[in-house]
Order: sequence, then C-alpha cells, then structure tokens
Amino acid sequence: NGEIEFDNVHFAYDPQRPILKGISFKVPAGKTIAVVGPSGAGKSTISRLLYRFYDVQGGSVKIDGQDVRDVTQTSLRAVIGMVPQDTVLFNDTIAYNIRYGRPSATEAEVEQAAEIAQVGNFIRSLPEGFKTMVGERGLKLSGGEKQRVAIARTILKSPPILMLDEATSALDTGTEQEIQAALDEVAKNRTTLIIAHRLSTVINADEIIVLKDGEIAERGTHAELLEQK
Ligand code: ADP
Ligand code: ADP
Repeated sequence: NGEIEFDNVHFAYDPQRPILKGISFKVPAGKTIAVVGPSGAGKSTISRLLYRFYDVQGGSVKIDGQDVRDVTQTSLRAVIGMVPQDTVLFNDTIAYNIRYGRPSATEAEVEQAAEIAQVGNFIRSLPEGFKTMVGERGLKLSGGEKQRVAIARTILKSPPILMLDEATSALDTGTEQEIQAALDEVAKNRTTLIIAHRLSTVINADEIIVLKDGEIAERGTHAELLEQK
C-alpha cells in the first residue's frame, strides 16, 4: 500500500491568486514520482496538501483510496515519512538522532539505516555545537549530510510513503550524488514523492511531473521528457 492520488486539486493561499489549478496524478504503491518546475510553481504546496498542512479547496487527495481529510493526523504521520528541507539535529550522537524515529530499534537496525542513507561512517559522532562540561565539541555536518541523517531516521520508521522536499537544491554535486544514491535505495521499497528544483536530480523517478503556473505542463519519465525537448 501507499498509493497516492491527486484528483483535480485546486488550491490558493490567497483567493485572488490560484496556486494549483486542477492537478491530477496517481502514484501506484511503491513507485517514485518527482515534481519539478520553477520556483513558485506550487511544488511544495503539493507536499503540504498531502501532509495536510492545508486542505484542498477543490478536488481530493487520497491515500490508498481514502481521502486524507478522513484520516487522523496521527495515522497520516505514521503513513507518510517526511524528510524536511532543514534538519535540526538533537544534542546527542548521530545514532541517537537516527533512532529518534523509532526508539525501539536495535543497534543493528540503526546501523543498517545509516548505511543505506550513507551516513554509516559517522553515527558515533556528535553534531556541531554539542555541549559538554568542558565546552562545545562535535562534527560539522553539511546540509546534505544532515538531510541523509533525516533520511536514515525515516528509513527506520519505515513508512509506506516517503516525502522529500527540495531534495538537493542547494547542494554541491558530490553531495547530490550521495543523496541520489541514498534516495534510490530508500525509494526501492516505498512510494516516494520528491519535490526537486532540477530534472538532473530525479533521473530514476518512475514519473516526473513538470509544474508550471499551477498546471502540469509536461509529464513522463526522464528519457521521455528529454525527447520532447
Ligand atoms: P514551489 O515549491 O514550486 O517553489 P510553493 O508551492 O512553495 O512553490 O509556492 C507556490 C506559490 O505560493 C508561491 O508564489 C508562493 O509565494 C506562494 N505561497 C507559498 N506558501 C504560501 C503561504 N503560506 N501563503 C501565501 N502564499 C504562499
Ligand atoms: P522555497 O520554495 O524557497 O523552498 P517555500 O516553499 O517555503 O520556500 O516558499 C516558497 C515561496 O513562498 C517563497 O518565495 C516564500 O517567500 C513564499 N512563502 C512561503 N511562505 C509564505 C507565506 N506564509 N506567505 C507568503 N509567501 C510565502
């Protein structure tokens, strides 16, 4: 399970300015969809509607055939694992930070999640600014590394749907490749919705939706979209 369906979704923050003008798409359970498009196109709004930060004003959003408005917040959050844009780390080891998603996880499970997310080599480290009796110490993690810690945390929770916003937008190429590798691994076993700035970061998605001015301008696989150009 984990099928996502947007059916003729309309949404506006300001009634004078529609953001989504009748968006429809379906993600079969286990598949990966990417939403790309220019800044302000409404990409993040799609993830906010799925997570129910906001409700649609027309049409519907369904998970496994059930309208998200009929699901409790608690079960919605159990079904959707969200990897935030900016990950805030707790003042404890990276392993602790990963385990936070599922306190009952074994050490081996934490290590496995860390390996998949490609942060296995520093799970014993402490985040930057870690405060001890003798002052501050810790490892400075890049934005990409922090995001991979969040990915590991989500893997451990193992939700049927994984949602990742603006995956790799502000990151250097090396980090982008590592996130890509982590994502491909994570996306294998669950429905995945990726909001991305650039087509180059979502090559392996089963379907890519190009959003422009609140409408779907193009859709297809990466190869299909390149052919249309
Ligand atoms: P994208 O993710 O494609 O950059 P968003 O979905 O974040 O776009 O935003 C789409 C449009 O909605 C933008 O023009 C943005 O300024 C506007 N917007 C986003 N969030 C809000 C909000 N909370 N209130 C009002 N306008 C918003
Ligand atoms: P970004 O797309 O840069 O990752 P957001 O998705 O949070 O960031 O917001 C997208 C755009 O929407 C930005 O231009 C931001 O200024 C605008 N925006 C976000 N929240 C609001 C809001 N509450 N009111 C108006 N504009 C907003």
